[in-house]
Amino acid sequence: MDTLLKTHNKIAFLSQFHGFLEKVSNSSSLKIQIQELGFGPKKFFSKGGRNGCVEASSSALLELVPETKKENLEFDLPMYDPSKGLVVDLAVVGGGPAGLAVAQQVSEAGLSVISIDPSPQLIWPNNYGVWVDEFDAMDLLDCLDTTWSGAVVYVNDKTKKGLDRPYGRVNRKLLKSKMLQKCISNGVKFHQAKVIKVIHEESKSLLICNDGVTIQAVVVLDATGFSRCLVQYDKPYNPGYQVAYGILAEVEEHPFDVDKMVFMDWRDSHLNNNLELKERNSKTPTFLYAMPFSSDRIFLEETSLVARPGVPMKDIQERMVARLRHLGIKVKSIEEDERCVIPMGGPLPVLPQRVVGIGGTAGMVHPSTGYMVARTLAAAPIVANSIVQYLGSDRSFSGSELSAKVWKDLWPIERRRQREFFCFGMDILLTLDLPATRRFFDAFFDLEPHYWHGFLSSRLFLPELVLFGLSLFSRASNTSRLEIMAKGTLPLVNMANNLIQDRE
Ligand SMILES: Cc1cc2nc3c(=O)[nH]c(=O)nc-3n(C[C@H](O)[C@H](O)[C@H](O)COP(=O)(O)OP(=O)(O)OC[C@H]3O[C@@H](n4cnc5c(N)ncnc54)[C@H](O)[C@@H]3O)c2cc1C
Repeated sequence: MDTLLKTHNKIAFLSQFHGFLEKVSNSSSLKIQIQELGFGPKKFFSKGGRNGCVEASSSALLELVPETKKENLEFDLPMYDPSKGLVVDLAVVGGGPAGLAVAQQVSEAGLSVISIDPSPQLIWPNNYGVWVDEFDAMDLLDCLDTTWSGAVVYVNDKTKKGLDRPYGRVNRKLLKSKMLQKCISNGVKFHQAKVIKVIHEESKSLLICNDGVTIQAVVVLDATGFSRCLVQYDKPYNPGYQVAYGILAEVEEHPFDVDKMVFMDWRDSHLNNNLELKERNSKTPTFLYAMPFSSDRIFLEETSLVARPGVPMKDIQERMVARLRHLGIKVKSIEEDERCVIPMGGPLPVLPQRVVGIGGTAGMVHPSTGYMVARTLAAAPIVANSIVQYLGSDRSFSGSELSAKVWKDLWPIERRRQREFFCFGMDILLTLDLPATRRFFDAFFDLEPHYWHGFLSSRLFLPELVLFGLSLFSRASNTSRLEIMAKGTLPLVNMANNLIQDRE
């Protein structure tokens, strides 16, 4: 989430997303569902709205979206020389936060690393928000460009909760620059291409790129995000989808306190004049997520937390325009916009398998929230240490044996059980309409901070998650308890089954 990123963000995301589409193209229902989310070719309009501001319709809002402009970091990257035919220790496919974090740390231990990405210098497209304590724990506070002393949640028109937990926006330009800088000084080589295929031999793998180059590596790490380029899945892929539309905008004014970010605004009075939209929002609710930078500059994102099928993008934009009008927010210009589709939950990849993975490709998105960047950056040293340890100087492990050890360190049984619980949370959220969602978050944010912080930041493990669940249940209203019992029983049985089946 760097300050002045433009619409290239969306295009970069769309290209990743199309990779994801290619991957799932044999699943026709999933493909249709993704098309319905509104990821057709985007139409760009000329700039200009009434009085230079946009109040009325989503197409008028889109008129203010800037033309595509890709922004690259100015680095002289040391490129891989295919003519030498070297076998590198580690090939990292994908230069997002997950891939670069591992490349940096494995190369620091003296192993040879290649990073392969179609746009290695491009500033990451997504607007990342994190809890400040998560970045503090990794000594990354300098990579936040804005912080808020706390957050607010509007449960409805009457109830507003203050969250006493600082929140920050990642300076993605700085974070990527720092990682690239370290990779360069550790001797990482870069190759600008897409990997299209992997062929495994006993002690090495061959990566075939779309430019005709073949790269040989002892270990292959798939860090291609949601495109899931190389990692294999053997169960039907049926995730929930978080869908959001965000704009970083210059506005005349907005009603929010600049010292607090708006984590969730579930109010719906902006839909009182549009009963059809209000009805849709009541069934599959969306909320506003906002980062106010100043009195006239703000990031606004209308978000469907999770739905199956995902809420169409056009619907989300319509709801956002109605909300902004109701809040009296007049948009003067848009610096960048973001179309977000995050697959959540679903099965883990085959464990273990020859290619190792991290990040979106390895099932690491929080299934109940869609967050991942802090969890991935915290997991990168685990994957890196594992590769360094098992590849080691005596080369005692290679091939599938080595990959199995790395997968085990990334997804130990406690983490798999934790994820199962989070998927249970997602299954409940999928069934909640707006009134039930409000009751749920009303009780959730009344929990002891240890519980709600720990749940959102993946710090609670199974025994504590059970206490978390009981505590949530005890704080819930009677209506909410009945709802959880009625709608949560089947997901609970599924979770219990999965927990019993998954053994060390
Ligand atoms: C719009 C959006 C906003 C988000 N906001 C947040 C947030 O605020 N907080 C949070 O915690 N999480 C957020 N997430 C979720 C998650 O943290 C991000 O998706 C994150 O970028 C995932 O990191 P990654 O490194 O796994 O993958 P990515 O960042 O997606 O990087 C994957 C890289 O792999 C490359 N690639 C793809 N296919 C190939 C191939 N075949 N060969 C070579 N390279 C390839 C891509 O070009 C890309 O550079 C957001 C996600 C989206 C989509």
